[in-house]
Amino acid sequence: MSMAANLLDKLAQKNPNEPEFLQAAREVMESLEPLMERHPEYVKAGIFERILEPERQVMFRVPWVDDRGTVQVNRGYRIEFSSAIGPYKGGLRFHPSVNLSIIKFLGFEQILKNSLTGLPIGGGKGGSDFDPKGKSDAEVMKFCQSFITELYRHIGADTDVPAGDIGVGGREIGYLFGQYKRIVNRYEGVLTGKGLAWGGSLARTEATGYGLVYFVEEMLKTKGESFAGKKVAISGSGNVAIYAAEKVRALGGTVITMSDSNGYFVDEAGVDLDCVKQLKEVERKRCSDYINNHPEAKYFEGCQNIWMVPCDIALPCATQNEINEQDAKNLVANGCIAVGEGANMPCTPEAVKVFHDNNVLFAPGKASNAGGVAVSALEMSQNSMRYSWTFEEVDAKLKNIMINIHTKAYQAAKEYGQEGNLVVGANIAGFVKVAEAMLAQGIV
Ligand code: NDP
Repeated sequence: MSMAANLLDKLAQKNPNEPEFLQAAREVMESLEPLMERHPEYVKAGIFERILEPERQVMFRVPWVDDRGTVQVNRGYRIEFSSAIGPYKGGLRFHPSVNLSIIKFLGFEQILKNSLTGLPIGGGKGGSDFDPKGKSDAEVMKFCQSFITELYRHIGADTDVPAGDIGVGGREIGYLFGQYKRIVNRYEGVLTGKGLAWGGSLARTEATGYGLVYFVEEMLKTKGESFAGKKVAISGSGNVAIYAAEKVRALGGTVITMSDSNGYFVDEAGVDLDCVKQLKEVERKRCSDYINNHPEAKYFEGCQNIWMVPCDIALPCATQNEINEQDAKNLVANGCIAVGEGANMPCTPEAVKVFHDNNVLFAPGKASNAGGVAVSALEMSQNSMRYSWTFEEVDAKLKNIMINIHTKAYQAAKEYGQEGNLVVGANIAGFVKVAEAMLAQGIV
């Protein structure tokens, strides 16, 4: 049995009910096999076993009272996975599907993603099975206050700095920050994604979506291609999807689909982003409402057929495992030339194999969606300096970071004999920095 297989076997025995975590660990460990052979010192120091075990896992009760006076109880999580290269850093997800497996998979991916940014941030992730959909602002505030009343003791500007993710945007970060500050009586950069008037960074809102498109642009260049004149299918209509769509449009592409968990719409004339922003960011409405303003567009209930819409480039920006093997085959059959993951792990391993086998350019999320956490780290720098950069300054740094991530991943893949395989390249490039830090810091 290979060393990776042996490690994964033990991991599955230890964590039997964590399919998403095991899926993420498998993808990484299998691609690190050549590294295991080249670096026996990593094996000897138990780097692989240690990186798979979170440094700390916190699970807690989150009680709150809804608008009808009924007591509700949710479960909160914070997985502090690795602090080898900096304070734990990673988002909070509020969604009914949240469980330990999902938070661990996200936290594990975050270690390598944060390393790839070149910035000094470790890996962590958290969240709750709370569903902000359909809740009043008062209910969301009460939940956030209860959540942080436990979490505050585990986090801090130099310890662990959470941010947003699915279901956690500016509103939630505001409620979490307000209560944190009240409890600790300190104004510090303990959360990122803050409002501009109270410590946030310009371009953080846009960062993940813009960063994704900067990364895919670099990837397209390796084949002499660009976004200009391309039809682009995007899933999701949240933070990542909206700003990916905005940048695609700026680079001359046409976004033809967007979705939410109820269904998707197709607008061949090009998605009206002002309308989507108004529906999603202001009115908190559904994608089905898009056709009220755009009767020429078509709405489809359910998301299962979104990847049958013919496109040149696909950017899945909703959630994990949203493109399976059959979806990938449909995309290939319809002439798709590139896929860039905006979400975390939206493509199953079988789907990724279809892309690789068919020479479809593929950008793995841990590299291509790292722009969000990169600008979060820039927000931390600005907080420490008590200073703010302009939008243009942050955007230029973001673009530079995304180009560097692409270069690192591309070159690592080439060095290990797998040119063009950015999955292998991103895993190796991200891992080596963390492994070197762990080696230097002894058995901890
Ligand atoms: P948002 O909550 O802003 O938006 C999520 C979007 O995806 C919504 O349109 C939502 O629809 C849809 N969605 C969520 N769950 C499902 C599901 N199970 N099935 C179908 N659609 C679903 O989140 P973000 O845009 O911030 O995050 C999207 C993805 O990007 C996630 O995988 C996240 O981990 C990843 N990511 C986000 C970063 C960030 O900076 N925000 C950074 C890096 C990665 P609905 O409204 O119906 O739920």
